[in-house]
Amino acid sequence: MPYSYRCGSCSASSPPGHYDDALAARDEHRRTAHGGLIPDGESITEADDPDRRGLDPKTIAAVAGLGLLAALYRWITH
Ligand SMILES: [Zn+2]
Repeated sequence: MPYSYRCGSCSASSPPGHYDDALAARDEHRRTAHGGLIPDGESITEADDPDRRGLDPKTIAAVAGLGLLAALYRWITH
């Protein structure tokens, strides 16, 4: 699950990534935008993974491949 850092003070968010990336984004944002201070309302939350929206092509290909194998098996054994 990807994570995203969000600063409630600026309404800025980091792109989804590993938890360590979100921590690095937090540290960088604190340093560059708030002079090293801790802003109000910051959080690290689980972010939507754009790759997991809908069916991904690999899953569709795997299901289609299994269907084809089943059809081939039936064709060979009958
Ligand atoms: Zn901020």
